[in-house]
Amino acid sequence: SANTIYVITPTYRRPEQIADLTRLAQALMLVRDVHWLVVEDSHVKSPQLTALIQSFGVRYDHLIAPMPEKFKKIRGAKPKGVANRNRGLKWIRQNAVEGVVYFADDDNTYDVRLFNEMRNTQKVSMWPVGLCTKTGLSTPIVKNGKLIGFYDGWIAGRKFPVDMAGFAISVKFLQERPNAQMPYKPGFEEDGFLRTLAPFEPHEIELKADNCTKILVWHTQTKKNEPSLKVDKEKYKNTNVL
Ligand code: UDP
Ligand code: MN
Repeated sequence: SANTIYVITPTYRRPEQIADLTRLAQALMLVRDVHWLVVEDSHVKSPQLTALIQSFGVRYDHLIAPMPEKFKKIRGAKPKGVANRNRGLKWIRQNAVEGVVYFADDDNTYDVRLFNEMRNTQKVSMWPVGLCTKTGLSTPIVKNGKLIGFYDGWIAGRKFPVDMAGFAISVKFLQERPNAQMPYKPGFEEDGFLRTLAPFEPHEIELKADNCTKILVWHTQTKKNEPSLKVDKEKYKNTNVL
């Protein structure tokens, strides 16, 4: 419907996955008219994941989109979540006519009030994201109600130096741009995607969260808990039998 927020969440298998998805789901459970597109980085749908998502009672679709092999092999920076997000965009092109699209990574922290900010997006809306890079936040800079630039720890020649969690797009606007997609370019996913929305210029950005003065989403990262599998060999040492 006109008010639906399509939340695209890339996710992949790791020990923290269920904890992260549960935290995100608990936020979405408090938001009306949400359609959650959970896109697994995998060749097959995990039935356990379907059961988990289903259990939250949030309207959802469970999709799959594996990261291409050539990127998986890279030892350095990978284009994380790109195949997943493009799969979500494809689903929206095929299934939605109005509403709003938001890319919500599984490990970020969302204030439920963020969703009301983005709900009436006409083209592209933006707001600050906390805990981003060395600057501590990434945000549009607003003066007298107008966008005059961007603050981000990593500008790197980007036209739109913003975080994935810092913007939403209207479905209608997206539908008018059939070639819009996210590039497999680590660090330039947001900028690359927003550039494919041309014609679209920074002055058209709709500024949310009280003229970008409020932080309603944080780019948190869950600490990896590696030893959980290695410990297996010595598991009896970790058991205290009464
Ligand atoms: N992701 C994925 N496959 C991967 C790595 C990450 O699908 O191999 C997903 C992950 O679940 C998250 C998004 O892509 O929703 C961004 O990844 P991550 O949170 O690790 O990136 P960072 O926070 O470091 O930018
Ligand atoms: Mn993350």
